Amino acid sequence: MIGTSFSFYTPSTERELLITLSKGALPVAGMTDVMVKIRTGKMKAKALSSVSRIESLKGVQMADDAVTIMAATTYTELLENKGLKWRLPILLDAVSEIGSTQIRNRGTLVGNIVNASPAGDGLLVAYLLDGNLEICSNEGCRSVDVRDFVKGPGQVALAPGEYIRSVTLKIPPKDSLYAFVKVGQRSAMAISVASVGVLLRLNAGTIEDFRIALGSVAPTVVRPLELERNLVSLKMEDGLFKTLAGELMNYISPIDDIRASAWYRREVVKRIVENLSVYLKGVEKQ
Ligand SMILES: Cc1cc2nc3c(=O)[nH]c(=O)nc-3n(C[C@H](O)[C@H](O)[C@H](O)COP(=O)(O)OP(=O)(O)OC[C@H]3O[C@@H](n4cnc5c(N)ncnc54)[C@H](O)[C@@H]3O)c2cc1C
Repeated sequence: MIGTSFSFYTPSTERELLITLSKGALPVAGMTDVMVKIRTGKMKAKALSSVSRIESLKGVQMADDAVTIMAATTYTELLENKGLKWRLPILLDAVSEIGSTQIRNRGTLVGNIVNASPAGDGLLVAYLLDGNLEICSNEGCRSVDVRDFVKGPGQVALAPGEYIRSVTLKIPPKDSLYAFVKVGQRSAMAISVASVGVLLRLNAGTIEDFRIALGSVAPTVVRPLELERNLVSLKMEDGLFKTLAGELMNYISPIDDIRASAWYRREVVKRIVENLSVYLKGVEKQ
């Protein structure tokens, strides 16, 4: 467990951040996960270095086909960003369900990704939107797909001395339909029992693009790419989502824990996917 005499750095530039990291400090942002881990003795660190005051790590950058979210940008700042409303509505749907106002005022998407919980709502959207991380150190910067970065629950490919500058999410075509459905034990402040994110694009009733990500039903978020590919060019017909729900059961491996049983998690995913047409929304309809 972290002792009472640990160092806490608040660098104001990335250069200063790197100096603190070279002294062995761990990069942190809103500390909503870190504080819980410290209190429960799950995190050991002699020093923490907060990215929160570094101006170059704040904000959102829009390109034609992608959005880059800097590491110190809070969830509240994402929700207030008008440009995200039509570019990444599924991200805002997920973010609006994270924790409480207090948590959203501090927490960050990058923190959620590094935390690498299979229940991470932001992580699920990053899987769905083909998220890519910019990871920097004294040696320079590298770019890594979120799906390659996450190695298991709480395990990521981040070496000592490295920090994440940003995450870039691809903007789905404007006529895509989307859904983010999260089932928790209660309606607010709940970590998901199971969650489903979907992006669907149709052309005259034929599936052109289909993506699905599932949370809390395996050691990491699940994105069944092969199954997604098999749906392309199929007609959107009655019974398709029922068949899909059945096939998805082969891709998940939920466990029993204090929040829910494995059986219940399977049932939740099955019911959501079978009834996807109820949940799907269009950007234009916003
Ligand atoms: C009451 C409560 C409710 C919550 N509800 C939800 C919920 O509904 N859904 C959900 O998904 N999560 C929830 N969370 C979890 C948490 O709020 C999120 O995971 C949050 O996004 C973490 O972001 P942070 O900025 O606070 O990260 P921190 O706690 O600061 O850090 C988390 C991890 O990321 C690392 N890190 C942070 N920034 C960087 C960086 N720039 N470079 C490298 N490493 C970095 C840290 O070292 C640490 O390992 C909840 C937490 C609490 C306490």
